[in-house]
Amino acid sequence: MSSLTFFGGVNEIGGNKILFEDKGTKIMLDFGMSFSLSGKYFSEFLQPRKCNCLEDFITVGLLPKIKGIYREDYLKHAGWPKEEKGLDAVLISHAHADHSAFIHHLRKDIPIYASPETLAIFNTLETTGSGGFKDFCNFTCSFEYKSKKDGSGYTKIIGDAAKSPRIIKPVDFNKKFRIDSVEITPYEVDHSVPGSTAYIIHASQGTILYTGDYRFHGYRSEATEKMIDAACEYEIDYIITEGTRANEEKGNTESDVFSRVSEFVEDTKKLSVINFPSRDIARLKTFHKVAQETGKKLVLDLKQAYLLDQLSLLGKDYPTTDDPNLYFFAEKKNWGLIGRDDYPIELILQDYDKWERKYLQKGNILNFRDIKISQNDYMFYCNYFLLNELIDIKPEKGSKYIRSVCEPFDEEMELDEKRVKNWLNLFGLDGPHQIHASGHASGPEIFESIDKIKPKKIIPIHTESIQCFEKQYSNLIHAETAKKIII
Ligand SMILES: [Zn+2]
Repeated sequence: MSSLTFFGGVNEIGGNKILFEDKGTKIMLDFGMSFSLSGKYFSEFLQPRKCNCLEDFITVGLLPKIKGIYREDYLKHAGWPKEEKGLDAVLISHAHADHSAFIHHLRKDIPIYASPETLAIFNTLETTGSGGFKDFCNFTCSFEYKSKKDGSGYTKIIGDAAKSPRIIKPVDFNKKFRIDSVEITPYEVDHSVPGSTAYIIHASQGTILYTGDYRFHGYRSEATEKMIDAACEYEIDYIITEGTRANEEKGNTESDVFSRVSEFVEDTKKLSVINFPSRDIARLKTFHKVAQETGKKLVLDLKQAYLLDQLSLLGKDYPTTDDPNLYFFAEKKNWGLIGRDDYPIELILQDYDKWERKYLQKGNILNFRDIKISQNDYMFYCNYFLLNELIDIKPEKGSKYIRSVCEPFDEEMELDEKRVKNWLNLFGLDGPHQIHASGHASGPEIFESIDKIKPKKIIPIHTESIQCFEKQYSNLIHAETAKKIII
């Protein structure tokens, strides 16, 4: 017997957590965070408490109550009984938080399957990220202590001493692998983060296609096409498809973004200030191409430098940190010594985390002084958290701001957007000018894909527009949260 149980992503965009069971083998497809549920109870300064282990997450419904999947250090600290391992693997579709953020909470002995790009992003998040809930590839055991060597008391085990690797299984696109009796083939798909993966799962009771998030209008569109072709060759019994934009027509493509940004940057007399999702490498490539064609220098942040270095280890065509059109911005941190000649370099370096220091002495590092004196030369990547750097850069009249992210979809994002506008007004920056392409396929594209694949049953998830599927198809299965579907 096989079954699917949806613990997230039902009538909501994101939060995918799908348990697939086949003859005693249990595999989780994604283990992400529901943004809507998280926003219902938590905000920037009201967060689930780590010291409460799983209880805060489970109480509000962010994590499902399933035995045998959660980390043993948390169970022990909370005084919950020990559990036998109850999950054989987790397959991750891509490195967006709504698909992967809760890996943190999983047991160390559950193997994590993901594409090399996804793992590169996880490594980057672990090294450069700030929040407390990481542990994607490396597991940091919490709440352990030991007696001091001299017998004078106890000490908490923290830092490297608490770290050990998880069981990580990088997947090769198009190459079948096996978990017990279940055969799985991963396929690359185009999305707004590199290495996004769809999985075709051959189970005893039929073949399942889990699409993850996908689109056809980025630079990897042929990957999505190939995945659809592969799915057509198998008889797909069940398609679990995303439907984020099922209610929308086709929109901008990544190439449209490139053309519009090019024109825009050419028209800008002074500084071009830009914002785009930090790990959207397709968008990064778009701005990079614009920089090459307009003779500008694209200034990224240090976290992006780290990610590009991780991706370049994969030997594919990702831009490298040595690229002549790429520069990296050292923001003011701690004592704010960057850009000051009256302090020795050792002290300046001490303002930064260890991983950042190797970049600071390279020739392509810029600080606010460099940008301030030569504003027409640069396209300055300025996310929400870098806005205060504009105080030092002092954008001159004629500078413009390009907003290359999705429109705000909740109150908190709207409030942030108001703040961005206040900053732009403060400096007389022209903008925001919205130039963006979505990470998701449109309704017509999703339906066309389904029509090609001809699955026996359709399970739409990651959507608030299930009615659009209802209008098109009679062979729908309506998933219900935590209710097992026998297949
Ligand atoms: Zn996504």
